[in-house]
Parts: sequence; structure tokens; C-alpha cells
Amino acid sequence: MYRSPIKHCRNCGAAVAYRVPDDGDTRERAVCPACGTIHYENPLNVVGTVPHWGDKVLLCKRNIEPRWGKWTLPAGFMELNETTAQGAARETDEEAGAQFEMEDLFSVMNVERVGQVHLYYRARLLSEQFHPGHETIEARLFTEAEIPWDDLAFRTVKETLACYFSDRRQGAYGIHVIDVA
Ligand SMILES: [Zn+2]
Repeated sequence: MYRSPIKHCRNCGAAVAYRVPDDGDTRERAVCPACGTIHYENPLNVVGTVPHWGDKVLLCKRNIEPRWGKWTLPAGFMELNETTAQGAARETDEEAGAQFEMEDLFSVMNVERVGQVHLYYRARLLSEQFHPGHETIEARLFTEAEIPWDDLAFRTVKETLACYFSDRRQGAYGIHVIDVA
């Protein structure tokens, strides 16, 4: 999911050069030598949910790369013109076809290495019937003991699930801010 460097100007199509702009900036940017446009690259948001049903959590088996065949919480890149909660709900609908009620923000994870911030909300499932979309091979519920810890797609999913079951045992849910190496 790491982004490749910008090669061409989004404004005029000329080849860009990476250099520190002359406007007092301190970082290298993709600068267009033809029209002067500076292309800023900033972290992307990934939004998702922890859908729960009793003592179980819903996981989806990925039908897409990367990590095909691995298990994940429903999540994906936030789109323009939606809030973080709307994006998380959309991804849950698309990937799991679940019926649910959105709850509070649960985890915020900085994934500096790939320039992403992941946000997960808790979501209360209203039914055990799932209708997964094409990105998902299978959607099913897991108790804590059944979670396939070694077959989870991403470190962020593992961290979020560990926090979720820990909070659940203590009977209170917080907001967890985690820096993922
Ligand atoms: Zn240009």
C-alpha cells in the first residue's frame, strides 16, 4: 500500500523534480520545473470497524491483494466527501454486507512507515447474516480464543483486536492511540 513517488505534474504533465521549494519549506517536495506547482504528499486515512456480536467479532477473509486469504477487520481508504465514521460504515457494508449500528471511536494508529493513519470504530451487529462483497472470500464471527492471530492481514488489525478483547474483559472501552512500527 506504499505510495510510489510522484513522477509527473498533476497540473501540466511535465516531469517533476524532488527538491526543497524556495518558499521557506524544509522538506523535499515534487516541484514542477515548468509551471512551478508544488505537490504536497500527506498521510492517508484508513477507516474501519470492530463489528461485535456477543463475545464474538466479525472478520473478513481477503479476496484481494495485498494479503490475499488473510483475515482482517472491515476497513479501507477514506473517500472524499465522507466523515471517518461514514467511511468506516461504508467499508463494513461493502466488505461484510453486515447490518450494524455505529458506536464510538476505538483505535487511532499512526503507521508512519507507509504514511497512514488508521481509525477503527466499534460497531454493534444487529444480525448474524452477512453478505460479503467481491473483496471478501468469507465473513464470519470469532470468539477471542478462535481469532487466527497468525493469519491476520495487518499489524493494525492485530493491535485493535488485542485492545478490544482486553477492554471487553475489563468491561469498559476506551480510545487507544498506538504508534505501529
Ligand atoms: Zn507543472
